[in-house]
Parts: sequence; C-alpha cells; structure tokens
Amino acid sequence: MSESDHFDCDLFVIGGGSGGVRAARIAAGYGARVRLAEEYRVGGTCVIRGCVPKKLMVYAGRFADEFEDAAGFGWEVGTTRFDWAALKRRRDAEVTRLEGIYATNLMRAGVDVVADRAVIEDPHTVRLVASGERVRARHILIAVGARPVKEPAIPGAELAITSNEVFELETQPARILVVGGGYIAVEFAGVFAALGSRTTLLHRGDRLLRGFDPEIRDALGEAYAKRMDLRLGATVHRLDRQDGAIRATLHDGSTLVVDQVLVATGRRPNVAGLGLERVGLDLDAAGAIPVDRFSQTAVPSIHAVGDVTNRAALTPIAIREGHAFADTVFGGKPWAVDHELIPTAVFSTPEIGVVGHNEDVARALHGEIDVYEARFRPMKATLSGRDERILMKVVVARASDRVVGVHVMGHDAGEIIQAVGIAVTMGATKADFDRTIAVHPTAGEELVTMRTPSAIKRPVGVG
Ligand code: NDP
Repeated sequence: MSESDHFDCDLFVIGGGSGGVRAARIAAGYGARVRLAEEYRVGGTCVIRGCVPKKLMVYAGRFADEFEDAAGFGWEVGTTRFDWAALKRRRDAEVTRLEGIYATNLMRAGVDVVADRAVIEDPHTVRLVASGERVRARHILIAVGARPVKEPAIPGAELAITSNEVFELETQPARILVVGGGYIAVEFAGVFAALGSRTTLLHRGDRLLRGFDPEIRDALGEAYAKRMDLRLGATVHRLDRQDGAIRATLHDGSTLVVDQVLVATGRRPNVAGLGLERVGLDLDAAGAIPVDRFSQTAVPSIHAVGDVTNRAALTPIAIREGHAFADTVFGGKPWAVDHELIPTAVFSTPEIGVVGHNEDVARALHGEIDVYEARFRPMKATLSGRDERILMKVVVARASDRVVGVHVMGHDAGEIIQAVGIAVTMGATKADFDRTIAVHPTAGEELVTMRTPSAIKRPVGVG
C-alpha cells in the first residue's frame, strides 16, 4: 500500500471563495487529489456578495453624474429613471453566470466540489455536516473567509442589515442610514446616494477611512458631504420600528427615520463551529487563525489563507496566498506572498487608489521623506461644470529616492493605481517617475510631472 492510500484525498479545502478556489485548482494541476466543501455558493464573498455585485452597483450609480455632465458637452438628456428591480435582476444573473464559471473551472481541474459544511475533527480529518461523511486528507486548507458583524450590539440591531443582505433588497430604500467609516460603508453610502436614496452616512470617528492618507480622508469627507448627509463623530444608540420604517436614536438623543439601516462596522474571521479547538488551534486577538509566511498553522497538516487569517482582507491577497500555498505544498516551488506593498482601491465616488504607505508610516519606515502633491480640476469638469478636484500624492524616501507611496483620489483612481503599482512594486525611484514621458492629456500624467516637493508637513496621526 502506498503512502497516499492512507488518505481519501491529498487536499481538503474548506471554503469555495477566492483563496480556496485558487488553491484547489493549482493543487489539482500538480496532480493532487482535491476535494472542496462550500456550504453556500461557489465564488465566495467577492463574487457572490462583495466586490463583483458591488462594483456593478457602483457603475449603476455613476450614470447619474454622467447624465448631468453630458449637458455641458451639448447633449440633451431626456427624463431619466432608475429601475432597482432591473439592476438587481441583471446583476444577480451575472453573479450566477460567474458562479457557474467558477464551478466549471474547478470541475475541469478535477476538483471534487461538495455542497456541504465541513468541520475539522482531527489534523487529518474533516466531517461533512449534512452527509455525515468523514474524509481523511493529507492536508487541510481553511479558506472560510470572514463575515460581517453588527457592532456595537445595540437594542434593535436585528432591524439592520449587513453587506450580505444588502444584495437581497428587492426594493430601493428611499431613505437609508449607513453606519461605519470603512471600505464597505463608504462604498455603499456612495452607491445609494448616487442612485437617489436619501442617504445618511454615520461614523464614530472624525474622518472616514482610518489609515488612509489624511488629505484624501479630508477630501473624501468634503465630497461626500455634498452628496449625502454625512455625520461624523456620531453613534447610533438604538433602533426601533416606526410605522413600517426604522427610527434610529443617536448619541445626542436626536432621531432619524429611515427605511433601511446598513451596518458596516467590520468583518470577523468565519471560524465559529469549525472545530479548531479539537486540533488545539488558538485564535489571535482579532479572532483570526495565526499562520506563518507560508500560510501554515501551528498544526503542520493544516494551512489557512485569506480573510480568516486577517493578514490583508482583500480578494487578490487571498488568491495569491492560495496560489502560493499550492505551489509550496504540492508544486515543490515554495514562495510566500509579500504583504508589504498592496495596491488597493475604494470604489467611492470620487474613487480612491493607494499603493504603499501614507506619510506617517513612510516616515517611520524610511526616515526623511519628500511629498509631492497635485490638486487640480479634471479636464472633463471644465465643460461639465462639476465641482470636483483630483488629488494625487507621491511619497518619496529621501535617502534612496524610492517612491514608497502613491495616493490618488478622482476618476479611475483604481485603474491608475494598478498601473503605477507595478512601478512602485519594482522599486521605482522618483527619478524613474520623472523620466517617464507623460501621456497627454490625462489625469495620470500629473504623477510624472511633479517637480517640487510640497512644504514639509508636521507629522499627523495615522488614526
Ligand atoms: P473596515 O474595518 O474597513 O471598517 C470598519 C468601520 O467600522 C470603521 O470605520 C470603524 O471605525 C467602524 N467601527 C468598527 N467598530 C465599530 C463600533 N463598535 N462602533 C462604530 N463603528 C465601528 O471594515 P469594512 O466592514 O468596511 O470592510 C472589511 C474589509 O473588507 C476591509 O478592511 C477591506 O479589507 C475589505 N473590503 C475591501 C474592498 C475593496 O477592496 N474595495 C471593498 C470592501 C471591503 P474606526 O475607523 O473608528 O475603527
């Protein structure tokens, strides 16, 4: 009997989201016998109730600006009307199409996909909850992601929805209260406001998007205050039903009556009931599974990738971690994901794109820095008349001349940052930026035409 006969499979993946699917496919490509259990829908948060359907809603919302702006370019746009049900139908169909592609790709790769919940019994055994089957696996990969939480626990919290349920709304709320100041709250408040819902965005802090560049945070706050009812330094103390609507009582005793409340105050690793205690796996302070740089847990046969490890809760990171795991364990090509420089975008309107560090972190890591900054009115706004600005910042480590941070707010910031992220990842210097020929007329050309550092600023808090 060969060693492999002791196991029913070489890899059992728990969770069919971004990280799990990539790991399963790559491992199967190396000839591993792979099974994958998913209790909900293949594709995970990103495809089913995250990045993909969210971005489609962002696109939907941005037409409102386009219709308005068109007038400045000679267009007469007739009456416009938004149909929530039509968008939902088309969006859901696209998500189902993608889900099918994910499932087909897994099948083509030879992965055995099980529609069931899996729990860990011992370092090499998982149990499928519905079928009761026990599967012996040489390796187990935990890729169960994270789930939204409603925090803090306030009376009436059950009346609120999270970013899971927001995609199930059959009708557009005429009035919505969005609670939180992170990626999800900012993105959805932007979507609802653009689609015409009377939107209140309420955040406990004095600025949105903790950890982002302070000037971008201020500029986003200014832009959002024009587009919606933005309340900073505010908290919700209770929610009650009122005549078919929801009454929110705020910290100062004032009330707000809305049709929906969306709580987006963070996500937590999805580890409840997974059986981690049976194998002695402890969680870290954030409730995540600690792993080494190769995604291995304290139990050698069990690895974990993606949001459940809370390294950087982003789809492309989960995909990389899943790929690196499979290459390392099944492909004989060990490599680890570099979490140092992560390009990312917030699909607010205006959009934000960032790669590298903000000024404070750059200073802490690299000592003296120079900051180059441009604020300008985009060319399109000259005729549309829209009151908007683009903000770009390039943070340079003075000693090495390396560009260690680029921050962009404005149209296509995500697209711009993806491209400039290549240069920053390669270690480009400010001199490299300077010798790059501008593409004219674009907004992005500002990044290669900044000549003079802005005045040295007093360090500001990261929070
Ligand atoms: P975030 O951690 O980004 O933000 C949570 C927000 O909730 C913060 O503003 C936080 O405030 C606030 N908050 C936390 N606890 C409380 C509380 N008890 N009372 C009131 N407010 C509270 O979480 P999200 O849910 O927005 O997103 C989760 C993750 O998903 C993100 O970090 C990101 O990695 C990922 N994501 C990425 C997207 C993208 O790439 N475009 C899109 C959506 C999600 P404070 O700042 O004061 O702590």
